[in-house]
Amino acid sequence: MTTKKDIKSMNLPELTAFMEELGEKAFRAKQIYQWIHEKQADSFEEMTNIPKSLKETLNGTAYLTSLKKEEVQTSRIDGTKKYLFLLEDGNVIESVLMRYKHGNSVCISSQVGCRMGCRFCASTLDGLVRGLSPGEMLDQIYQIGKDIGERISNVVVMGTGEPLDNYDNLLRFIELLTDENGIHISQRNITVSTCGIVPKMRELADKKLAITLALSLHASNQEKRMELMPVANKYDIYEVIDACRYYFKKTGRRITFEYSLAGGVNDTDEDADELSKLIKGINCHVNLIPVNPIKERNYVQSNARVIEAFKNKLEKNCINVTIRREMGRDIDGACGQLRKRYRERTTKE
Ligand code: SAH
Repeated sequence: MTTKKDIKSMNLPELTAFMEELGEKAFRAKQIYQWIHEKQADSFEEMTNIPKSLKETLNGTAYLTSLKKEEVQTSRIDGTKKYLFLLEDGNVIESVLMRYKHGNSVCISSQVGCRMGCRFCASTLDGLVRGLSPGEMLDQIYQIGKDIGERISNVVVMGTGEPLDNYDNLLRFIELLTDENGIHISQRNITVSTCGIVPKMRELADKKLAITLALSLHASNQEKRMELMPVANKYDIYEVIDACRYYFKKTGRRITFEYSLAGGVNDTDEDADELSKLIKGINCHVNLIPVNPIKERNYVQSNARVIEAFKNKLEKNCINVTIRREMGRDIDGACGQLRKRYRERTTKE
């Protein structure tokens, strides 16, 4: 038996070639593409203008990725929703909907688990299972849009996984997400967050997309960064910062630096000064994230005064900075925790 084709991950030229292979006319590809990406059908059966015989052929030769909502938690504080989706192979992933005045933003996962090993992160505790297909990344957004019956305007690739460790699928996902024949999200409304895989950051820069690159920095020097993020052993902090400069040079897009503050770890006045020097002259924005403690590790949040002082110090040094508002505080905390708890629950028996 030949393996079935992943039709949700195909772009229009690929879908057209696939129709030709099946001996079908090219316009069928357009119709099917429209069903998948505009009307967001969950099965071939829904495609009412496709002949029954072709639907049968499709069922035999291809599959249409469709994520199942396994669990949804809604915050009573701010309406944030966390979704746990079940994939066809039995794995689960999580995605988050955040509602802002300027629109609905979805944070998606790019992998099942993660192999980057960042010390404070729950997503990486059990390692990497696999990368998500473009269709699986896309369907997180489609399913959430359908669930709330509203348009999704912003996408952040900041959930479980390292997007640049799933680079080709990420690029196809962005292509489909921004396609005017699909849900047509503007490149400017997409942010990809990376722990700093330098060669891929440079490759992405060369694509000259208008997406925002967020770099998870979390430390102001190489020594501290290596303690928090094993990836720093491979690519040192100066190489990573250089790659950020390169990204700005190529794309003109302002870099976001993410900096999770952990009490007594990276939150002193000296840290703030050293950070200012490190990123001086880069067109950037620093997003301070109070660390979200996970029970497997001892990190604690810096207290509010320390966070404020850190922010003030950066401002004094002329760095653009904001403190990330914590969304959905009352529902399963840090990224990766929902999936982790679910797995602990379901593998106990
Ligand atoms: N792998 C990518 C994207 C996923 S993580 C990356 O490293 O950027 C998204 C962001 O959340 C990263 O900045 C990550 O370092 C941060 N993060 C993960 N766990 C966290 C926690 N418990 N508290 C605060 N920030 C956390």
